[in-house]
Amino acid sequence: MTAAEPYDYAAVGMGPANLSLAALGEPLPDLRPIHLEARESTAWHPGLLLPEATLQVSPLKDLVTLVDPTSRFSFLAFLAQEDRLYRFLTARFPAVHRTEFNQYLQWVSQSIPSIEYGTHVQDIDLRDGLFRLRSERGEVLARNVVLGTGPVPRIPPHLRNHLCADVFHAGEFLLRERTTADRDVTVLGGGQSGAEIVRHLMRLDRVPRSITWITRRPGFLPLDDSPFTNEYFFPQYAREFHKMPGERRRTLLAEQKYASDGIDTATLEDIYRERYRHEYILGRKDWIRLMPGMEVTGCTRLPDGWGLTVEGAEPRVVTTDVVILATGYEHRLPSCMDTLTPRLSTTGGTPDVGEDFSLRLDGDVRGKVYVQNGAQHAWGIADPNLSLLAWRSAVILNDILGYRRYNT
Ligand SMILES: Cc1cc2nc3c(=O)[nH]c(=O)nc-3n(C[C@H](O)[C@H](O)[C@H](O)COP(=O)(O)OP(=O)(O)OC[C@H]3O[C@@H](n4cnc5c(N)ncnc54)[C@H](O)[C@@H]3O)c2cc1C
Repeated sequence: MTAAEPYDYAAVGMGPANLSLAALGEPLPDLRPIHLEARESTAWHPGLLLPEATLQVSPLKDLVTLVDPTSRFSFLAFLAQEDRLYRFLTARFPAVHRTEFNQYLQWVSQSIPSIEYGTHVQDIDLRDGLFRLRSERGEVLARNVVLGTGPVPRIPPHLRNHLCADVFHAGEFLLRERTTADRDVTVLGGGQSGAEIVRHLMRLDRVPRSITWITRRPGFLPLDDSPFTNEYFFPQYAREFHKMPGERRRTLLAEQKYASDGIDTATLEDIYRERYRHEYILGRKDWIRLMPGMEVTGCTRLPDGWGLTVEGAEPRVVTTDVVILATGYEHRLPSCMDTLTPRLSTTGGTPDVGEDFSLRLDGDVRGKVYVQNGAQHAWGIADPNLSLLAWRSAVILNDILGYRRYNT
């Protein structure tokens, strides 16, 4: 991966965010990018690619359509090229399966020759005014860097030392699913991932012996998918949010939580019906225990399983064989930024992010480090969502190009 001539930009991580950048940049003959991905191939949260899981947004919020509906990389173009457009329309899915959206992402990535897979960027520093990105496969020089490394699993502190084959984050679920059959399984977390795992467990041929679902939230709360709320996912709103004072942004992020972190109604209905089926039709009374408003505050290794200390309205110790942490993700700069981090301008401990999505670096730096899906504090609840993907990539591309290639 060594090249004498610097690239216009080096993208780090090729999830949907930087795939969108690559797709919008692909028709531009003068642009010379490189795209670096740690995985051996494109995969969208593979540990949570459950067969029944669906997109929570319109498939028109794909990699390109909202800024370039004529792009050859749209979801509709994928359906047409795969010869399934008529059947897709006729099937009238209420929502697109995530497994199909993953196929779409893989289809796009196959047309981007500048992706170098199996390249885990370990360090980024500066050399002669250029960015130098190092991995086990060598180094590249680039005028700009676009970080798209995605979020990292959030593990509650008292469970960090217990991670093992039976205590794991939801993001690894499909790798470990076989550990749940005929065992007592506890799912922590009342968001969409927790709900999807609970639904999946309830539908397995070999179900767990019991399921306990614990959340700090006062209930299993729905996603607010209503029209006015959905305007939080517009570029216009993101721009307004970006201009607000920090205190106001923090308040709004808390207030708007369930516009992005609630459970979609279809999943809640499925779980409700599955519970009914198991309890009344299959006669498995108390097979699933729902524990909202409760918090796990400790974990102890027992001779045969785990004891979870649970506090709330009815404190108790829950004994279990398996603990699945559907405790969400954190957005922080990846470790490959450690060398540059001391040069970043920050406010209240979080990096400042400009209107062009670039981080502010001190010193004599000509190029920029842009950050995709890493600045919810600056851009609002839509930052990790697919909704702003194409727009954000277009803003970054325009800035790198130095002219307005896309309307933003
Ligand atoms: C299970 C799940 C379902 C979701 N469903 C939806 C949905 O329906 N609608 C919606 O709007 N949003 C959804 N989201 C939120 C969001 O759209 C996704 O998290 C999306 O994948 C974010 O894209 P990304 O490219 O920023 O990060 P990621 O998809 O996490 O991709 C990051 C990539 O960077 C690579 N990488 C990391 N570090 C390095 C490194 N140092 N060097 C090289 N490569 C590296 C990783 O291997 C990975 O491929 C979902 C999130 C999850 C977890």
